Parts: sequence; structure tokens; C-alpha cells
Amino acid sequence: MAASTPLTFQPILERIAEEIERTPGRGRPADYIPALAARDPRSFGMAVAELDGTVYGVGDWREPFSAQSITKVFTLALDLAREGDELWEHVGREPSGNPFNSLVQLEYENGIPRNPFINAGALVVTDRLHTRTGDAASELLAFLRAESGNDGLDFDLEVAASETAHGDRNAALAHLMASYGNIDNPVPVLLDDYFRQCSIMASCADLALATMFLARHGVRADGTRLLSLSQAKQINAIMLTCGTYDAAGDFAYRVGLPGKSGVGGGIIAVVPGRCTLCVWSPGLDERGNSVAGVAALDRFTTLTGVSVF
Ligand code: GLN
Repeated sequence: MAASTPLTFQPILERIAEEIERTPGRGRPADYIPALAARDPRSFGMAVAELDGTVYGVGDWREPFSAQSITKVFTLALDLAREGDELWEHVGREPSGNPFNSLVQLEYENGIPRNPFINAGALVVTDRLHTRTGDAASELLAFLRAESGNDGLDFDLEVAASETAHGDRNAALAHLMASYGNIDNPVPVLLDDYFRQCSIMASCADLALATMFLARHGVRADGTRLLSLSQAKQINAIMLTCGTYDAAGDFAYRVGLPGKSGVGGGIIAVVPGRCTLCVWSPGLDERGNSVAGVAALDRFTTLTGVSVF
């Protein structure tokens, strides 16, 4: 991680952090997973990684946080790389317009979730990756370690246990889909894998680097190809339309980048062919997206003019 190259993005990040510091109202940390509720809503970190691996950062950009739903991007990539388009027979690619943990569409859409970035869709992806690998969360952890260059990344088993203890809604989603034949593994096995996946602790720097394969059109840090050009483009498109749940339209309007949020307060974003970003602040809005995180990405694309539009 070089910090001594010309600091193109550094002054912009510092300006954004100052603005965020002065902004009142940061939302509230997720409290449905008790282990997340204790985080300080005033924490803020942001990192930008360039294609060559240079990372700029500000604030708490090296502080590990709970990646949560950000991991849905990586499990989708890992599964798509293995199984290809057959996956799309089991999960759709349309925005849901509903909260991330909603059950309502699943029954009248025959157990096929709208997209891979709501919980129901991510459970299908993890189930399929579990069938192929025996342990989707470990496959994911190895990928994140390799792409970030940080072997210290790990699960937070306290967070995973906390989710298991409060996991009725995810269990309901999985059982309902299993009743339609859209889940292969026993639900408790799937949930254990999914909650460990969500619990991975990583910093803004780690996640910006791990997302780089999407800015590099499918090519990993070691130069090998994970996804085809089309697949990388497809994942970026789904991030834009579905990555922030029922706020995806507003996120596209304000930020103008493919992005994916998690209830730990992190958001990753991609500028294809140019750079990746990760921002973290634990206070969430009512849709489960980081308040300061969305504001910071909004300021980044406004100040730099960098966007996909
Ligand atoms: N682990 C969380 C859940 O399944 C992830 C949700 C999120 O980050 N939006 O409820």
C-alpha cells in the first residue's frame, strides 16, 4: 500500500471528512444485531484505491468493521465465476423496491428472489456456493485476504452468534425458499455459512482493494481473471440498480456509481476502469444505508466529477 505517490485524491478525502465532521445527524447503528449496536455513530473512514493498488484514506479508514451485506458482491462474483448463467434461473436481477430483509415478494414470485443483493437472493447465492465449495464463507474469506493483501482478515464469531440468536427473519426467508425447492442445503447449515460470511471484519482500505477486480473488468490482484468482461459489467450494473435496496434510485441519483452497502455502516463503490471506494460510518438511515457514507460518496462524485454518467 503506497502512501507516498502524488496525492491526487488525498485533499478531496480530507475536505469530505471535514464536511462530514461538521454535519449533524448521522443516523443510528443497526440494533437488530446486538453486537453491532455498540459502535460509535461518529466513526468515519473513507478510502479510495487506484488500479495499481495505491490507497488513499482519511479518518478511520484502517479500522475494521463488520462487512455484512457488502460481502454479497463477492459471493455473487465467486458463484457466477463457477456456475455462470445457470445462477439466474434461481435469482433475478430486478430491484425489489422493498427492504433488504423483506419476505413479501417471495411467495407470489414462487421462491425466486428479485436480486442477489437482498437477503433472500444472497441466501440463494451462498447456498449454491456452499454446494460447490463445502464452505462459502471460507471461500469468501480466502478471496478477501488475497485481494486485500491482508492475511489478518477474519470472521467475528461473536457477531455471527448474535445474528444466529436473532436470525428468525433470515431463517423464515430460507425456509420459504426451501419450500419452493430453491435451497439445496439444510437451512441451519446455510444460515451458519451466511452469518459467518456477513461477520467478516475488514477496513475501508481492505474492502476498497478487494473490490478492485470490478474496476479492473474482472481481473484479480494477481493478474488472473475471475470474471469475464461481461460478468464484471453485469455485477456493476446490479450494484447500481439493487446495491442499496429500496434506496437504489436515490443512491444512483446522488452518487452515480455502482455501490453496495451493509448494515455495519460500510459502502463500497466502483468507478470501472479507474478506482474503487469504501466508506464507513455506523449510523444508518431507515433503509439500512450509512447516512454519512452516502453523503461522503455524494460529495466525492460531485467534487471530482468522477461517475459512470
Ligand atoms: N447479516 C445481515 C442480515 O442478514 C446483513 C444485512 C445487511 O447488511 N443489509 O440481516
